[in-house]
Parts: sequence; C-alpha cells; structure tokens
Amino acid sequence: MTTHTSYSAEWIKNRMTETVFKQFGKTIKHATNKELYFALAGIVSNEIRQKWQETNKRYKEESNKQLYYLSMEFLIGRLLRNNLLNCGLLQVTEEAMEELGFILDEILEEEEDAGLGNGGLGRLAACFLDSLASLNYPGHGFGIRYRYGLFEQRIIHGNQVELPDNWLTEPYPWETRREDEAIIVQFHGNVQMFKRNDGTLEFKYENTDKVLAVPYDVPIVGYQNNTVNTLRLWSAEPIYYDQVDSLDDMFFRDLNHQHSIEQISGFLYPDDSSLEGKELRLKQQYFLTSATIQSIIKQFKKNYRLPLTRLHEKVVIQINDTHPTLAIPELMRILMDEERFGWEEAWEITTKVFAYTNHTIMEEALETWPIDLFKNLLPRIYMIVHEINERFCKRLWFDYPEMREKIPSMAVIAYDKIHMARLAIVGSFSVNGVAKLHTNILKNKVMNDFYKIEPHKFNNKTNGITHRRWLLQINPKLSNLISELIGNQWIQRPKQLIHLLKHSKDEAILEKFHLVKQENKLALARYIYDQTGIKVDEKSIFDVHIKRLHEYKRQLLNVFHIIYLYHELKDNPNLNITPRTFIFGAKAAPGYHIAKEIIKLINTVATKVNNDPEIKDKLKIIFLENYNVSLAEKIIPAADISEQISTASKEASGTGNMKMMMNGALTLGTLDGANVEICELVGKENMFIFGLTAEEVLRYYEHGGYDARDIYNTDDRIRRVMDMLNYGEFGKQVIEFKDIYYHILFHNDPYFVLKDFEPYLEAHELIDQTYRDKMVWTHKSVINIAHSGKFSSDQTIQEYVNDIWKIKRLQ
Ligand SMILES: *Cc1c(COP(=O)(O)O)cnc(C)c1O
Repeated sequence: MTTHTSYSAEWIKNRMTETVFKQFGKTIKHATNKELYFALAGIVSNEIRQKWQETNKRYKEESNKQLYYLSMEFLIGRLLRNNLLNCGLLQVTEEAMEELGFILDEILEEEEDAGLGNGGLGRLAACFLDSLASLNYPGHGFGIRYRYGLFEQRIIHGNQVELPDNWLTEPYPWETRREDEAIIVQFHGNVQMFKRNDGTLEFKYENTDKVLAVPYDVPIVGYQNNTVNTLRLWSAEPIYYDQVDSLDDMFFRDLNHQHSIEQISGFLYPDDSSLEGKELRLKQQYFLTSATIQSIIKQFKKNYRLPLTRLHEKVVIQINDTHPTLAIPELMRILMDEERFGWEEAWEITTKVFAYTNHTIMEEALETWPIDLFKNLLPRIYMIVHEINERFCKRLWFDYPEMREKIPSMAVIAYDKIHMARLAIVGSFSVNGVAKLHTNILKNKVMNDFYKIEPHKFNNKTNGITHRRWLLQINPKLSNLISELIGNQWIQRPKQLIHLLKHSKDEAILEKFHLVKQENKLALARYIYDQTGIKVDEKSIFDVHIKRLHEYKRQLLNVFHIIYLYHELKDNPNLNITPRTFIFGAKAAPGYHIAKEIIKLINTVATKVNNDPEIKDKLKIIFLENYNVSLAEKIIPAADISEQISTASKEASGTGNMKMMMNGALTLGTLDGANVEICELVGKENMFIFGLTAEEVLRYYEHGGYDARDIYNTDDRIRRVMDMLNYGEFGKQVIEFKDIYYHILFHNDPYFVLKDFEPYLEAHELIDQTYRDKMVWTHKSVINIAHSGKFSSDQTIQEYVNDIWKIKRLQ
C-alpha cells in the first residue's frame, strides 16, 4: 500500500526556516549547504521516527517472525535522497529549496558516505535491507559501527595513497544511540566446569575482559509504505565501574585499556588475504555476533513469551559470508550455559535458526583461524566448536562410511586450524551461493563432499540490486522516460520493465533513450572536468570499469587493450576508430602490492595517452579516485560499456554488472557469475561475450596445459604490450612495471590475462563497429533495461523469503 502523508513545499520551507534558525541562529538565506543538509536531515529523521516506532509496535502486536541479517559490512552510502524519496518528500523538497534559492543536489552532496563496507558484499547487504523494508518484511541488519570505514583513496603521482575515512567527525544524523540496549561481551579468561545436583554441567567464566557493546540504530525506510526497519550497528566501549558489580572491573577505566577496547569497533579491515590470523579481526567478529545473539534472545523473550525451543518459529538469522559464523557457537553457549539446555536440545534449536550465504570459492578467501589464537581469545566458544567438530566427525565416520577418507578435508578443526565455512555449513539449515554458476561450482566442486551428505541444504539465490536506488534515484531522466512509456507500475514491480520491449524498435523512442544517455554522459563529462581538468567527449564510447581492484577482476586485461590501441594509433594515426573514454574507479587493499602497481599503471598510461597530441581525442583514460557508492551513482547512468571481465569462475555473482545493465549499458564480459544469467535473458547478440568459460578455466587449474610463455612468444601484439612494462617506455624509470611483467610470466598468468587477450580485442572491435549505428546500439540497450527487473533485489528477497526465511509481510 502506498499510503503516506502528503507534504507541501510550503511545509518544508517553514520547517527549514524554523530549524535553521533554531540550530544555527541564522536566517535561511545565509545558511551554508552544510547547515541546510543538517537541518533537512533532522526534519526527515523526525518524520521517520514516528513510522519507526509504529512499525516496531506492529511487529510486536502481530507477533511476526523476524529475519536478522548479520554482516560485517553494510555499504549504505548516503541516505538523505533515499529517505526523502521513500518518505514521499523528494519532489516537494526540490521545489521548496529552489524557491528558497538553493539547489537540492548540492545540499545532498554534503552528506558523508557511510562506507562501512569494502565492495559487493557490503553493498548487497544494504540493497537487501532496502528491499526488505520496501516489501514490508520484518527484516533487520546487525553490523559494526566502525569509527573509520574503508580508507579514502587519493591518487598522487599515479599512486594510491590511503587516508583514514573519518566519517564521524560531524554527528551522523541518521543514528540513535541506544544505551539502554547495551550488551556485555566477554573475551579471554578461563572456564570452570561444575557438576550441578541434577548431574548437568555448569560452566563459569573467570577473569574475562568485558566490553560494552552499545547499539546505534539506523532506520531503514521502506519505499512509501510506512515501514521502517532497523539497522543496528554496535560500538565497543569500556564499562565504567558504576555499571559493573566487581571492583576488578575498575581497571577498565585505565586509558590504554579504554583505547584497546574502542579499537574493536575502530576500523573496517580492507578485504585482504593477509588478514589471516589477525586477532583484532576475530575480536570484531565475536563482538558483532555475541552482542547480536544476546540482543536477539532478549527481544525474543520480551516480545513473544515463548520457550526458546520455539525460537525458530520467530527468528531466522542469515549470515553474510563466514565472517559472522561465530553466531552459531555463541547461540549454543547461551542456550547451554545461560538457559541450561543440554547439548542435543541446544543443537536442535541452533541448526533451525541459521542460514549461510557463501560469497567466494577462492581458496585464499576461505577463512580459517589458528587454534591457539582462537582458544586464548574465546575459551568457551572454542570448547563448543571443538565439540561440534567431534560430533560431526563421528557422524561422518558412522553414518557415511564412504566419506571416511574425506574427514580431514571436512572437519571443522583440522591441522591446527578452525575452518569457518565448514562450521557455517554444519551449523546451518541452508547454504546458498549467489548466482547459478557459482552455486553449481559449490555443489559440484568446492563443497561437493558436504553436498553429497546433505544435498537438501544447498540452494541458489542470485544476487540483486535495489532498482529504487540504482535506477529511480540515480537516473531520474531514464526513470521518467520509462514511466512515460509504460506507466510507473515498474517502481512497485520492476519485472514490468519488460514492457519496454514493445518500444525497442520504435526509432522515435530509441532516439529519446539515446538523448537521455547523452545528457547523462554530458553530466559525467562535467564532473570529470571538475575533478581532473580533463575534457572528455560525450560522443565517445564511455567504457566503464568500476569495482575493487583485484587480479581476478582483470583491470590489467583492460589496460593491456588500451596500450595495444595506443600502439595501433601511433603506428597509424589515421586509423578509423570510434573515440573511446575509458573510465576506471577502484580501490586496492593497502597491502596488495600488485593491485597497487596496476593502479599506477592505469594512471601512467592515462597521463601518457591523454597528453599525446597525436592521439587527438580518440582515446581518453580517466581514473576517478575514491570509488564508493556516491561515485558509482554518478558514473553508472552514463555508462555505454560495462566491463565485467573477471577470469571465469572467480566472480561469484557481481552486482556492478546488474546496476549498469539497468541503466542501459551493454555488458562486455566473460561467462562468469551473474553475467551468465544476464546472457540467458538478453541473448548473446545483446552483449559482448568473450574468453574462456568457467569449465575451461577449472580444467586448466586441475589438469594444466596452459603455458603463458607460449602466448608471449607467439603473439606479437601481446609481446609488444608486455615488453613495454619491462623496458619502461611508460615510466620515468626503466624498471617501473617489471613487477607486473614478472608476476605474469613467472606465475604462469594465473588469471589468464594473456590467454583471453585476443578474444577480448575481437570483442572490442565488435563494440567499435556496433556503436557506429546509434539505433542498433540503443535497441540493444533498451533490451537490457527491459530485462533488468529480474535483478531487482526485491526478486532476490522474495526467493530468500519463499525458500529460506518463511517470514510474512506486515499486514
Ligand atoms: C556495486 C558496488 C560494488 C560491487 O561491484 P562489482 O562490480 O560487482 O564488484 C562495489 N563497490 C561499490 C561502491 C558498489 O556500489
């Protein structure tokens, strides 16, 4: 239902005038954009508060089952535009601000991005929360309120420089501190075991380090439906002595100690394989899961008055990758040590509550913890994990004799390590991958042993993106054109975008789509000029590669193609190519040397090419610094080509691919992740597919047969590109990019950059030709938009609800 209060521009003007005066002691015409932002956010927050309270009241009254989405990352980006739109305030606010002589877009730019995530995984969690609230589902997020989010990236002399992301210097207007809901989390100490009179065991913890988890709640506002869910972010604080019952705890007031406690929610770790064995990261994981599970149990008891044996009727918990897996032994701990359940009963309850989402098959990204570190930090949790492992291995031994030799590779604890993915599978009732191809690889390869014994647990849930942010909010021109053509029902039911198909051959209408894209490209060109001083031609192909920098995402393949094109143009300046603007955005993990070298290579090539008068305006290369949600929102509406060129099998799903498809870009991609499903929908003729398939890649990994040197030796184009890295034509010094050169040749090109180079060139050649016919291109673009409703996270959420969560909509 879309019942909401109607607001007028007059109302906004009055409230703004009043608020600016009260808060800043100024008449509104003297207010800065920053002050206007805070005033407006305050007004919107107030409007939300009412609905928030009512939503919570109704959940309680209707005694609904609740979903809790646990994630170490929530990459929510800015909220003001989102909340204005969802409250039905966007249009009147735009008018009001204009009448007051201000531009709303500029005011919205004042908001800090809440960058509490690295990339796709964190953004997925944010899209899911949006869909849950917009579909009236009782679903909430639990995460950490990092004092510093992912670093802010600057590019200095072509190099990535990392600055702290100090996003909380000013108050964050969307959060509410809930000290009354604070929870104590305990680390270290020793565990004493006693026998109770009834023969059951009692566990007591001594000398633990206690940390206070204070929740900061952020409202998640549904789209014009009065539903407001909660994202609860935990902050770590010392416990002051008047709040604890023993004098021992007084030492927490010591300043050093205070600092080390605040560190727990101090900063977000960049995704980095060197993370392994980082104690603080494990502390963060337990901090999140312990506070969350305690809080969930508390709410369950308060709201439902049911025995905990019926927990699964009212609670389901989705764990986003293995990072929050400790929630499983933590629930066991609470059930046994605090609620006095026996093991069997506690396990029965626990395994009906948890569902696990896997996000990667990459070996180096599968989490493990060294036993010693784990045991020392979490002694009681270790005992429980140990027991889970013992029982699981016994079950394998007795119930599945054919699996006996697999026990070492299935055990939760093996070779002095705790394997988090294995723990997650054993303790959950559902295990899902995030795209069809990815789920099949899990079932048939990576998790095949587990699949064999419990096939019913495994299922696919292809990722999605919220079309409200990624189309309606960021691309108003395209949204208006769509509504003009097919009505605005697609906003509620994104699959209705399919009705665009009937217009996909009408030249007058295609012309309109083309004009919208051109206007968006012009806007991005202006932004690029403001940021970099470089002029780009909006008539050139905007070829966009935006995502975290990683070898498997193959930004290097893209640069190799650019270097190749540059050579071609130098050899033959009259070469007839369609002008191109290559646009990059990417952060590299600070400790990932090769990734940082690739950033430097992109920027070095950019400087050389952009300043070469012989190239004229045929090639431009733009690296926009500090890729985050707000930057993505500026780039995506203007993209012609969406580069999704990961080594097949490596990108579990991808969501950047979906965002760009929805905004009319054509995908240049491998058959990897959700690209496969995009291809099933739009057909090969409406995208540019190239390169090895996942099956071929996996076969090479398993059986060998690929020699990168062969390609280097036989393909002149590749050798020419590679040799430039070695002989340094691009650098000031001769050795500048030797690391990349040797990395490829001495590790046999593990991501198949050389192998896929030729088919990649051919795909680019086809793009160049296709773009010359505006109508043909725009026709393909509209077909992509028409099919993109399938990738709305509303769709994904509905599948989670049907197959896993079994929750009911409010009303
Ligand atoms: C969508 C998104 C991602 C994920 O992009 P992929 O191309 O799927 O890796 C990463 N970062 C931001 C800021 C995003 O908005």
